[in-house]
Amino acid sequence: MTLDTIVTVGAGQTAAVAARTLRRRGFEGRILLVGDEPHPPYQRPPLSKEFLAGQQDRDSLLLLPEQWREEQSVELLTGAAATRIDAGTGSVELADGRRLAADAVLVATGGRPRTLPVRGPEPDRVHYLRTIDDAEGLATRLHPGARLVMIGGGLIGFEIASTAQTLGVEVTVVEADPLPLARIFGAEIAEICACTAQASGVTLRCGVPIDSVAAGRGEVVVTLADGATVAADIAVVGIGIVPNTEIARTSGLAVDGGILVDAQGRTSLPQVYAAGDVAARFSDAAGTHLRVEHFDNANKQGMATANRMLGRTGVVDTPHWFWSDQFGANLQFTGSARYSQLIFRGSADAGEFTAFYLDNGVVRGAFARDRGGEIGAARELIGRAVPPARLADESTDLFDLMDEVTVS
Ligand SMILES: Cc1cc2nc3c(=O)[nH]c(=O)nc-3n(C[C@H](O)[C@H](O)[C@H](O)COP(=O)(O)OP(=O)(O)OC[C@H]3O[C@@H](n4cnc5c(N)ncnc54)[C@H](O)[C@@H]3O)c2cc1C
Repeated sequence: MTLDTIVTVGAGQTAAVAARTLRRRGFEGRILLVGDEPHPPYQRPPLSKEFLAGQQDRDSLLLLPEQWREEQSVELLTGAAATRIDAGTGSVELADGRRLAADAVLVATGGRPRTLPVRGPEPDRVHYLRTIDDAEGLATRLHPGARLVMIGGGLIGFEIASTAQTLGVEVTVVEADPLPLARIFGAEIAEICACTAQASGVTLRCGVPIDSVAAGRGEVVVTLADGATVAADIAVVGIGIVPNTEIARTSGLAVDGGILVDAQGRTSLPQVYAAGDVAARFSDAAGTHLRVEHFDNANKQGMATANRMLGRTGVVDTPHWFWSDQFGANLQFTGSARYSQLIFRGSADAGEFTAFYLDNGVVRGAFARDRGGEIGAARELIGRAVPPARLADESTDLFDLMDEVTVS
Protein backbone atom coordinates (compact mmCIF):
# COMPACT_ATOMS: atom_id res chain seq x y z
CA MET A 1 0.00 0.00 0.00
CA THR A 2 1.25 3.49 -0.81
CA LEU A 3 1.48 5.75 2.20
CA ASP A 4 0.51 9.36 1.57
CA THR A 5 -0.06 10.47 5.14
CA ILE A 6 1.48 9.26 8.40
CA VAL A 7 0.03 10.57 11.67
CA THR A 8 1.60 10.18 15.08
CA VAL A 9 -0.66 10.26 18.12
CA GLY A 10 1.58 11.89 20.70
CA ALA A 11 4.34 14.36 19.89
CA GLY A 12 7.09 13.35 22.31
CA GLN A 13 10.48 11.67 22.00
CA THR A 14 9.31 8.64 20.03
CA ALA A 15 7.19 10.59 17.57
CA ALA A 16 9.99 13.11 16.99
CA VAL A 17 12.52 10.38 16.22
CA ALA A 18 10.03 8.61 13.96
CA ALA A 19 9.44 11.84 11.99
CA ARG A 20 13.16 12.43 11.58
CA THR A 21 13.68 8.84 10.46
CA LEU A 22 10.85 8.96 7.93
CA ARG A 23 12.34 12.02 6.25
CA ARG A 24 15.90 10.65 6.47
CA ARG A 25 14.74 7.49 4.70
CA GLY A 26 13.21 9.56 1.91
CA PHE A 27 9.51 9.48 2.79
CA GLU A 28 8.00 12.39 0.86
CA GLY A 29 4.38 12.16 2.01
CA ARG A 30 2.60 14.14 4.69
CA ILE A 31 3.80 13.74 8.29
CA LEU A 32 1.54 15.12 11.00
CA LEU A 33 2.38 14.97 14.70
CA VAL A 34 -0.62 15.31 17.01
CA GLY A 35 0.19 16.16 20.62
CA ASP A 36 -2.07 17.09 23.49
CA GLU A 37 0.54 19.25 25.24
CA PRO A 38 0.74 22.93 24.27
CA HIS A 39 4.46 22.53 23.43
CA PRO A 40 6.40 21.27 20.44
CA PRO A 41 8.27 17.98 21.06
CA TYR A 42 10.89 18.23 23.80
CA GLN A 43 13.27 16.01 25.76
CA ARG A 44 12.18 14.98 29.23
CA PRO A 45 15.43 13.74 30.85
CA PRO A 46 16.69 17.25 31.74
CA LEU A 47 13.40 18.02 33.50
CA SER A 48 14.63 16.33 36.68
CA LYS A 49 18.23 17.44 36.19
CA GLU A 50 19.68 20.57 34.52
CA PHE A 51 16.33 22.13 33.61
CA LEU A 52 14.97 21.73 37.14
CA ALA A 53 18.20 23.21 38.47
CA GLY A 54 17.75 26.25 36.23
CA GLN A 55 20.83 25.44 34.15
CA GLN A 56 18.99 24.79 30.88
CA ASP A 57 16.24 26.75 29.17
CA ARG A 58 13.16 25.62 27.23
CA ASP A 59 14.69 26.09 23.79
CA SER A 60 17.55 23.73 24.54
CA LEU A 61 15.05 20.93 25.16
CA LEU A 62 13.40 21.13 21.75
CA LEU A 63 13.66 18.04 19.57
CA LEU A 64 12.36 19.34 16.24
CA PRO A 65 13.04 23.07 15.99
CA GLU A 66 10.53 25.10 14.00
CA GLN A 67 12.99 25.79 11.19
CA TRP A 68 13.64 22.05 10.75
CA ARG A 69 9.91 21.32 10.70
CA GLU A 70 9.39 23.97 8.05
CA GLU A 71 12.27 22.79 5.89
CA GLN A 72 11.15 19.19 6.18
CA SER A 73 7.42 19.90 5.90
CA VAL A 74 6.64 18.14 9.12
CA GLU A 75 3.32 19.39 10.51
CA LEU A 76 2.57 19.72 14.18
CA LEU A 77 -0.78 20.03 15.92
CA THR A 78 -0.35 20.95 19.58
CA GLY A 79 -3.05 21.05 22.25
CA ALA A 80 -4.89 18.39 20.30
CA ALA A 81 -5.93 15.16 22.03
CA ALA A 82 -6.65 12.21 19.77
CA THR A 83 -9.49 10.04 20.99
CA ARG A 84 -9.86 7.23 18.46
CA ILE A 85 -8.21 5.64 15.46
CA ASP A 86 -10.54 4.26 12.85
CA ALA A 87 -8.44 1.77 10.96
CA GLY A 88 -11.37 0.97 8.66
CA THR A 89 -11.62 4.47 7.22
CA GLY A 90 -7.98 5.35 7.86
CA SER A 91 -8.57 8.27 10.16
CA VAL A 92 -7.72 9.70 13.56
CA GLU A 93 -10.44 11.45 15.55
CA LEU A 94 -9.66 14.37 17.84
CA ALA A 95 -11.43 15.42 21.03
CA ASP A 96 -12.67 18.61 19.31
CA GLY A 97 -14.45 16.55 16.65
CA ARG A 98 -11.91 16.95 13.87
CA ARG A 99 -11.05 13.88 11.82
CA LEU A 100 -7.61 13.50 10.21
CA ALA A 101 -6.95 11.20 7.28
CA ALA A 102 -4.10 8.76 7.92
CA ASP A 103 -2.73 5.87 5.87
CA ALA A 104 -0.61 4.78 8.83
CA VAL A 105 -0.67 5.78 12.49
CA LEU A 106 2.02 5.61 15.14
CA VAL A 107 0.67 5.63 18.68
CA ALA A 108 3.37 7.16 20.89
CA THR A 109 1.37 8.48 23.80
CA GLY A 110 3.89 7.78 26.58
CA GLY A 111 2.61 7.68 30.13
CA ARG A 112 1.46 9.87 33.00
CA PRO A 113 2.55 9.79 36.63
CA ARG A 114 0.86 7.33 38.93
CA THR A 115 -0.94 9.44 41.53
CA LEU A 116 -1.63 9.24 45.25
CA PRO A 117 -4.76 10.47 47.02
CA VAL A 118 -4.07 13.69 48.95
CA ARG A 119 -6.25 14.88 51.82
CA GLY A 120 -6.51 18.49 52.93
CA PRO A 121 -7.13 21.93 51.45
CA GLU A 122 -3.67 22.50 49.86
CA PRO A 123 -3.24 19.68 47.32
CA ASP A 124 -0.94 21.91 45.21
CA ARG A 125 1.79 21.26 47.77
CA VAL A 126 2.03 17.81 46.16
CA HIS A 127 3.86 17.74 42.82
CA TYR A 128 4.46 15.28 40.00
CA LEU A 129 7.07 15.49 37.26
CA ARG A 130 6.38 14.49 33.69
CA THR A 131 6.04 17.68 31.66
CA ILE A 132 7.90 20.92 31.18
CA ASP A 133 5.07 22.68 33.02
CA ASP A 134 5.42 20.29 35.96
CA ALA A 135 9.16 21.06 36.08
CA GLU A 136 8.62 24.82 35.97
CA GLY A 137 6.00 24.59 38.72
CA LEU A 138 8.25 22.48 40.91
CA ALA A 139 11.30 24.67 40.31
CA THR A 140 9.52 27.65 41.88
CA ARG A 141 9.22 25.70 45.15
CA LEU A 142 12.86 24.60 45.38
CA HIS A 143 14.56 27.36 47.31
CA PRO A 144 17.24 27.17 50.00
CA GLY A 145 15.89 25.99 53.32
CA ALA A 146 12.64 24.59 51.87
CA ARG A 147 11.73 21.08 53.04
CA LEU A 148 10.90 18.45 50.42
CA VAL A 149 9.62 14.97 50.98
CA MET A 150 10.23 12.83 47.92
CA ILE A 151 7.79 9.93 47.77
CA GLY A 152 9.47 7.13 45.85
CA GLY A 153 13.15 6.24 45.72
CA GLY A 154 13.35 5.27 42.06
CA LEU A 155 15.40 6.97 39.35
CA ILE A 156 13.18 10.05 39.07
CA GLY A 157 12.94 10.28 42.85
CA PHE A 158 16.69 10.18 43.30
CA GLU A 159 17.29 12.68 40.49
CA ILE A 160 14.81 15.16 41.95
CA ALA A 161 16.28 14.62 45.42
CA SER A 162 19.74 15.26 44.04
CA THR A 163 18.78 18.43 42.16
CA ALA A 164 16.79 19.78 45.10
CA GLN A 165 19.65 19.09 47.46
CA THR A 166 22.09 21.06 45.27
CA LEU A 167 19.61 23.97 45.43
CA GLY A 168 19.84 24.00 49.22
CA VAL A 169 16.58 22.15 49.85
CA GLU A 170 16.29 19.85 52.86
CA VAL A 171 15.32 16.49 51.34
CA THR A 172 13.81 13.32 52.80
CA VAL A 173 13.17 10.37 50.49
CA VAL A 174 10.56 7.84 51.58
CA GLU A 175 10.65 4.45 49.88
CA ALA A 176 8.51 1.38 50.60
CA ASP A 177 11.25 -1.11 49.66
CA PRO A 178 14.10 -1.76 52.10
CA LEU A 179 16.50 -0.07 49.65
CA PRO A 180 15.91 2.59 46.99
CA LEU A 181 16.73 1.63 43.38
CA ALA A 182 17.14 -2.04 44.32
CA ARG A 183 14.56 -3.24 41.80
CA ILE A 184 16.52 -1.56 39.05
CA PHE A 185 20.15 -2.17 40.05
CA GLY A 186 20.00 -4.99 42.61
CA ALA A 187 20.79 -4.68 46.31
CA GLU A 188 24.56 -4.19 46.22
CA ILE A 189 24.57 -1.30 43.77
CA ALA A 190 21.45 0.16 45.40
CA GLU A 191 23.33 0.22 48.70
CA ILE A 192 26.12 2.23 47.09
CA CYS A 193 23.61 4.72 45.61
CA ALA A 194 21.82 5.04 48.94
CA CYS A 195 25.10 5.76 50.76
CA THR A 196 25.99 8.43 48.19
CA ALA A 197 22.64 10.15 48.70
CA GLN A 198 23.02 10.07 52.47
CA ALA A 199 26.57 11.38 52.27
CA SER A 200 25.17 14.32 50.27
CA GLY A 201 22.84 15.17 53.12
CA VAL A 202 19.63 13.46 51.98
CA THR A 203 17.62 11.62 54.65
CA LEU A 204 16.32 8.19 53.62
CA ARG A 205 13.28 6.51 55.19
CA CYS A 206 13.10 3.07 53.60
CA GLY A 207 11.21 -0.16 54.17
CA VAL A 208 7.83 1.26 55.24
CA PRO A 209 5.01 2.02 52.80
CA ILE A 210 3.02 5.23 52.86
CA ASP A 211 -0.29 5.28 54.65
CA SER A 212 -1.53 8.77 53.74
CA VAL A 213 -0.59 12.20 52.47
CA ALA A 214 -2.24 15.30 53.96
CA ALA A 215 -1.66 18.87 52.77
CA GLY A 216 -2.89 21.80 54.81
CA ARG A 217 -1.94 24.46 57.36
CA GLY A 218 1.12 25.41 55.37
CA GLU A 219 2.73 21.99 55.11
CA VAL A 220 2.40 18.48 53.78
CA VAL A 221 2.53 15.52 56.14
CA VAL A 222 3.28 12.03 54.93
CA THR A 223 2.23 9.32 57.35
CA LEU A 224 3.93 5.96 57.03
CA ALA A 225 2.32 2.59 57.71
CA ASP A 226 4.17 2.32 61.05
CA GLY A 227 2.63 5.60 62.23
CA ALA A 228 5.75 7.74 61.75
CA THR A 229 5.28 11.09 59.99
CA VAL A 230 7.45 13.24 57.73
CA ALA A 231 6.47 16.90 57.49
CA ALA A 232 7.68 19.17 54.70
CA ASP A 233 6.77 22.26 52.71
CA ILE A 234 6.15 20.27 49.55
CA ALA A 235 6.03 16.66 48.41
CA VAL A 236 6.89 15.19 45.06
CA VAL A 237 5.41 11.85 44.09
CA GLY A 238 7.60 9.66 41.89
CA ILE A 239 6.08 6.21 42.07
CA GLY A 240 6.06 5.24 38.41
CA ILE A 241 3.90 5.92 35.39
CA VAL A 242 0.67 4.63 33.92
CA PRO A 243 0.88 4.11 30.15
CA ASN A 244 -1.56 6.27 28.17
CA THR A 245 -3.48 3.42 26.55
CA GLU A 246 -6.95 5.01 26.45
CA ILE A 247 -6.87 5.62 22.70
CA ALA A 248 -5.77 2.05 22.13
CA ARG A 249 -8.77 0.78 24.05
CA THR A 250 -11.29 3.00 22.24
CA SER A 251 -9.75 1.96 18.91
CA GLY A 252 -9.84 -1.77 19.62
CA LEU A 253 -6.09 -2.37 19.90
CA ALA A 254 -4.86 -5.22 22.07
CA VAL A 255 -3.60 -3.91 25.42
CA ASP A 256 -1.98 -5.80 28.26
CA GLY A 257 -0.04 -3.48 30.56
CA GLY A 258 0.84 -1.46 27.43
CA ILE A 259 -0.19 -1.53 23.78
CA LEU A 260 0.80 -4.96 22.53
CA VAL A 261 2.98 -4.86 19.44
CA ASP A 262 4.98 -7.49 17.65
CA ALA A 263 8.76 -7.33 17.21
CA GLN A 264 8.22 -4.87 14.34
CA GLY A 265 6.05 -2.45 16.33
CA ARG A 266 2.76 -3.52 14.68
CA THR A 267 -0.42 -3.47 16.78
CA SER A 268 -3.36 -5.80 16.33
CA LEU A 269 -4.82 -3.44 13.67
CA PRO A 270 -3.36 -3.02 10.16
CA GLN A 271 -1.26 0.11 9.57
CA VAL A 272 -1.42 1.05 13.24
CA TYR A 273 1.88 0.93 15.13
CA ALA A 274 2.87 1.75 18.69
CA ALA A 275 6.24 2.59 20.22
CA GLY A 276 7.98 4.17 23.19
CA ASP A 277 6.87 4.15 26.83
CA VAL A 278 3.32 3.10 25.93
CA ALA A 279 4.22 0.02 23.87
CA ALA A 280 4.78 -3.51 25.11
CA ARG A 281 6.93 -4.85 22.30
CA PHE A 282 7.64 -8.51 21.72
CA SER A 283 11.28 -9.34 22.32
CA ASP A 284 12.63 -12.55 20.82
CA ALA A 285 15.56 -12.40 23.23
CA ALA A 286 13.26 -12.24 26.26
CA GLY A 287 10.55 -14.46 24.75
CA THR A 288 7.86 -12.08 25.96
CA HIS A 289 6.46 -8.56 25.57
CA LEU A 290 8.47 -5.84 27.32
CA ARG A 291 7.40 -2.29 28.08
CA VAL A 292 10.42 -0.07 28.68
CA GLU A 293 10.39 3.53 29.92
CA HIS A 294 13.71 4.90 28.75
CA PHE A 295 14.97 7.49 26.32
CA ASP A 296 17.11 5.04 24.34
CA ASN A 297 14.15 2.71 23.93
CA ALA A 298 11.97 5.58 22.67
CA ASN A 299 14.67 6.43 20.13
CA LYS A 300 15.23 2.85 19.01
CA GLN A 301 11.54 2.04 18.71
CA GLY A 302 10.67 5.34 17.04
CA MET A 303 13.35 4.68 14.45
CA ALA A 304 12.54 1.00 13.95
CA THR A 305 8.82 1.61 13.59
CA ALA A 306 9.38 4.34 11.01
CA ASN A 307 11.63 1.92 9.12
CA ARG A 308 8.93 -0.73 9.23
CA MET A 309 6.30 1.68 7.87
CA LEU A 310 8.54 2.18 4.86
CA GLY A 311 8.92 -1.56 4.28
CA ARG A 312 12.31 -1.98 5.95
CA THR A 313 13.01 -4.18 8.93
CA GLY A 314 11.52 -2.78 12.13
CA VAL A 315 13.16 -5.21 14.52
CA VAL A 316 15.33 -3.83 17.28
CA ASP A 317 16.10 -6.18 20.12
CA THR A 318 19.36 -4.95 21.61
CA PRO A 319 19.80 -4.79 25.41
CA HIS A 320 18.28 -1.75 27.06
CA TRP A 321 20.46 1.14 28.09
CA PHE A 322 19.78 4.19 30.22
CA TRP A 323 21.60 6.78 32.26
CA SER A 324 20.89 8.85 35.33
CA ASP A 325 22.72 11.84 36.77
CA GLN A 326 22.52 12.10 40.54
CA PHE A 327 24.61 13.32 43.46
CA GLY A 328 27.47 14.39 41.25
CA ALA A 329 27.79 11.05 39.43
CA ASN A 330 26.80 9.77 36.03
CA LEU A 331 25.21 6.32 36.26
CA GLN A 332 24.68 4.10 33.23
CA PHE A 333 23.05 0.72 33.05
CA THR A 334 22.51 -1.87 30.36
CA GLY A 335 20.79 -5.26 30.25
CA SER A 336 19.23 -6.80 33.32
CA ALA A 337 20.12 -6.96 37.01
CA ARG A 338 19.39 -10.71 37.17
CA TYR A 339 22.57 -12.07 38.73
CA SER A 340 24.24 -14.55 41.01
CA GLN A 341 27.62 -12.81 40.94
CA LEU A 342 28.58 -9.14 40.73
CA ILE A 343 32.06 -8.40 39.41
CA PHE A 344 33.60 -4.99 40.04
CA ARG A 345 36.05 -3.39 37.67
CA GLY A 346 37.56 -0.29 39.22
CA SER A 347 37.05 0.96 42.72
CA ALA A 348 33.65 1.08 44.38
CA ASP A 349 35.27 2.96 47.28
CA ALA A 350 36.64 5.63 44.97
CA GLY A 351 33.21 5.78 43.30
CA GLU A 352 34.40 5.11 39.78
CA PHE A 353 33.69 1.59 38.56
CA THR A 354 31.81 -0.74 36.30
CA ALA A 355 29.95 -3.68 37.84
CA PHE A 356 29.05 -6.70 35.71
CA TYR A 357 26.01 -8.79 36.55
CA LEU A 358 26.75 -12.46 35.90
CA ASP A 359 24.28 -15.30 36.05
CA ASN A 360 25.83 -18.78 35.82
CA GLY A 361 28.95 -17.18 34.40
CA VAL A 362 27.05 -15.33 31.65
CA VAL A 363 27.01 -11.53 31.55
CA ARG A 364 23.41 -10.29 31.90
CA GLY A 365 23.95 -6.61 32.53
CA ALA A 366 26.34 -3.88 33.61
CA PHE A 367 26.25 -0.75 35.74
CA ALA A 368 28.83 2.01 35.30
CA ARG A 369 29.43 4.84 37.76
CA ASP A 370 31.36 7.66 36.13
CA ARG A 371 32.60 5.07 33.60
CA GLY A 372 30.11 5.54 30.80
CA GLY A 373 32.90 4.81 28.32
CA GLU A 374 32.75 1.13 29.23
CA ILE A 375 29.02 0.65 28.87
CA GLY A 376 29.08 0.21 25.08
CA ALA A 377 31.52 -2.69 25.32
CA ALA A 378 29.64 -4.10 28.30
CA ARG A 379 26.47 -4.11 26.22
CA GLU A 380 28.20 -6.23 23.59
CA LEU A 381 29.28 -8.73 26.24
CA ILE A 382 25.70 -9.44 27.35
CA GLY A 383 24.82 -13.05 26.70
CA ARG A 384 28.46 -14.15 26.68
CA ALA A 385 30.25 -16.33 29.21
CA VAL A 386 33.25 -14.29 30.35
CA PRO A 387 35.81 -15.32 33.01
CA PRO A 388 35.14 -12.95 35.94
CA ALA A 389 38.85 -12.35 36.48
CA ARG A 390 39.16 -10.96 32.95
CA LEU A 391 36.29 -8.53 33.56
CA ALA A 392 37.80 -7.35 36.83
CA ASP A 393 41.28 -6.95 35.35
CA GLU A 394 41.57 -3.32 34.27
CA SER A 395 44.30 -4.17 31.80
CA THR A 396 41.80 -6.23 29.79
CA ASP A 397 40.43 -4.37 26.80
CA LEU A 398 36.70 -5.10 26.96
CA PHE A 399 36.31 -4.80 23.19
CA ASP A 400 39.04 -7.43 22.69
CA LEU A 401 37.14 -9.75 25.04
CA MET A 402 34.28 -9.89 22.58
CA ASP A 403 36.42 -11.77 20.10
CA GLU A 404 37.59 -14.23 22.75
CA VAL A 405 34.28 -15.31 24.27
CA THR A 406 31.26 -16.91 22.69
CA VAL A 407 27.59 -16.09 22.96
CA SER A 408 25.86 -18.55 25.31
C1 LIG B 1 11.58 13.84 34.47
C2 LIG B 1 12.02 12.71 33.57
C3 LIG B 1 13.37 12.36 33.51
C4 LIG B 1 13.79 11.32 32.69
N1 LIG B 1 15.11 10.99 32.67
C5 LIG B 1 15.53 9.97 31.91
C6 LIG B 1 16.91 9.59 31.89
O1 LIG B 1 17.75 10.19 32.57
N2 LIG B 1 17.29 8.54 31.12
C7 LIG B 1 16.39 7.86 30.36
O2 LIG B 1 16.77 6.89 29.70
N3 LIG B 1 15.06 8.19 30.35
C8 LIG B 1 14.62 9.23 31.11
N4 LIG B 1 13.28 9.57 31.10
C9 LIG B 1 12.34 8.78 30.29
C10 LIG B 1 12.17 9.30 28.86
O3 LIG B 1 12.03 10.69 28.85
C11 LIG B 1 10.96 8.63 28.24
O4 LIG B 1 11.24 7.25 28.16
C12 LIG B 1 10.59 9.19 26.87
O5 LIG B 1 10.19 10.52 26.97
C13 LIG B 1 9.45 8.38 26.25
O6 LIG B 1 9.07 8.95 25.04
P1 LIG B 1 7.59 8.73 24.46
O7 LIG B 1 7.56 9.45 23.17
O8 LIG B 1 7.24 7.30 24.49
O9 LIG B 1 6.63 9.44 25.50
P2 LIG B 1 6.54 10.97 25.88
O10 LIG B 1 7.86 11.65 25.74
O11 LIG B 1 5.86 11.02 27.20
O12 LIG B 1 5.56 11.60 24.78
C14 LIG B 1 4.22 11.23 24.68
C15 LIG B 1 3.39 12.44 24.34
O13 LIG B 1 2.09 12.03 23.90
C16 LIG B 1 1.11 12.88 24.46
N5 LIG B 1 -0.21 12.23 24.43
C17 LIG B 1 -0.67 11.28 25.26
N6 LIG B 1 -1.91 10.90 24.89
C18 LIG B 1 -2.24 11.64 23.80
C19 LIG B 1 -3.40 11.70 22.97
N7 LIG B 1 -4.45 10.91 23.16
N8 LIG B 1 -3.40 12.57 21.93
C20 LIG B 1 -2.32 13.37 21.70
N9 LIG B 1 -1.21 13.35 22.47
C21 LIG B 1 -1.15 12.49 23.49
C22 LIG B 1 1.67 13.13 25.86
O14 LIG B 1 1.07 14.24 26.49
C23 LIG B 1 3.15 13.37 25.53
O15 LIG B 1 3.37 14.69 25.15
C24 LIG B 1 12.83 10.61 31.91
C25 LIG B 1 11.48 10.97 31.97
C26 LIG B 1 11.07 12.00 32.79
C27 LIG B 1 9.60 12.37 32.86
